[in-house]
Amino acid sequence: MVYIIGAGPGDEELLTLKAINAMKKCTAVLYDRLIGGNILNYLREDCEIYYCGKEPGCHYKTQEEINESIVRLAKEGHVVGRIKGGDPYVFGRGGEEALALIEEEIAFEVVPGITSAISVLNYAGIPVTSRGKAQSFHVITGMSASMLKVNWESLAKEEGTLIFLMGLESIEDICSNLIGHGKAKDSHCAVVMRGTTSKQKKVIGTLESISHKVKEAELKSPCIIVVGQVVELQEKLSWYERKPLFGLNVCITRSKEQAEPLKWKLKDLGAEVTEINSINIVDTSENLKPVESKLPFYDYIVLTSVNAVNTFFSYLLRNSIDFRKIKGEFVVIGKATARALKERGIMPFLESKEFYSESLFEEIKPKLLKHHKVLIPCSKIARNYLQEEIAKCCQEVDRINIYETNEGHIKNPKSFEECDVIIFTSPSTVKNMISLVGLEKIKEKISIAIGPITNRELESHGIEAFMCKEASEEGLIEEIKSIRSKING
Ligand code: SAH
Repeated sequence: MVYIIGAGPGDEELLTLKAINAMKKCTAVLYDRLIGGNILNYLREDCEIYYCGKEPGCHYKTQEEINESIVRLAKEGHVVGRIKGGDPYVFGRGGEEALALIEEEIAFEVVPGITSAISVLNYAGIPVTSRGKAQSFHVITGMSASMLKVNWESLAKEEGTLIFLMGLESIEDICSNLIGHGKAKDSHCAVVMRGTTSKQKKVIGTLESISHKVKEAELKSPCIIVVGQVVELQEKLSWYERKPLFGLNVCITRSKEQAEPLKWKLKDLGAEVTEINSINIVDTSENLKPVESKLPFYDYIVLTSVNAVNTFFSYLLRNSIDFRKIKGEFVVIGKATARALKERGIMPFLESKEFYSESLFEEIKPKLLKHHKVLIPCSKIARNYLQEEIAKCCQEVDRINIYETNEGHIKNPKSFEECDVIIFTSPSTVKNMISLVGLEKIKEKISIAIGPITNRELESHGIEAFMCKEASEEGLIEEIKSIRSKING
């Protein structure tokens, strides 16, 4: 089975549900240069990933080679995904690939994608049609070889919006052909580079002035050229570029489970978010087995991270333990941990004011009695501090390592290059990112530490970082906003 999948113009939120569902079925994928940095994160962990992008000028793989690879992988028994930018049928050679599959009697489906021809213009504030300004739109290849067959005469007469893909290199020819066939020199024109991403940049002009302006602005491929009256509307309709974090690519380095809430908040504010899960969570909650019979009798259960909450409750569920048997109070560190607990219908008895074990201990200490039993289900690499201090006050403290972290990997190697800011949320994210991308590459970016412990780890590697005033998602967002305004001067 082969899925030919349109992945949209770049912004990961423009993936369709159908594309995500198809990607989850794939065991091998081939992807293009133009797909967004996060798209591959939707694949299964064990999916084989092959790059077959065509860099302008250097053809990495020919179309025939790509067709052969798809066929070979499918015959090997893979569910193959062929992931393409935009829509597979809009200058995407999706048709040719599908025909090659028919010849080999391989089953296929083609998943439409949001084409850049429409969405990139939207993100630049340009609607493709508009009453009184454009009654039609035309999508044309601007690739010089194919342009010989373009009917310039009728295009020049057209009142609708003209949209040229793959046209940056031939922009002068495009403009002179249109003018030469009678289109007004002062027709509105825009060029949009890397639309729907943090690198979006646009140049506005006329047919006569645009190619000069594009050179001045040093626009690079991929770009879309648009000609028509609708370009005028961009002054008013540029909603994307007006978002507070537009233009910033923020790298989140935490585990998949923890990255999501922060990611959507940052995206809402207009940032592009690159997710590199430098940490994998390995559930070791079966370690709770020896204390399972004691669960109803603990006075306090201390949870110091969202991962601890998740793995603790997944243990209960897996082992069909009715939660109501647990009578002890829950004590947590951090807003996010508290939230994770509340979402399960449990109100924490105590939530430490600061993000550290020291703070939690100071607050819980007055409540601890000698006969109390305390359970600390935590990460294998958690410090011993809480366990040791609580043991000085209570007769029974059980620390159980219910999860471990190991180093993640990068699915799309290009995605990190594009980041401006990296968020470090624990010392392990620092260590793992250094191992994944290298210290020097990190130093080229702006780093943010969630709190002093993470900051100390960064300092020990010679990485200078901004530190959040408050160790929470809200604190991170505030820090990113202030960095963004500094960059803007
Ligand atoms: N199938 C794709 C188009 C492939 S042709 C689609 O439906 O969008 C490749 C061309 O698409 C590029 O040369 C450029 O003109 C355009 N393009 C794709 N993504 C783009 C983006 N994010 N910003 C600007 N142009 C883009």
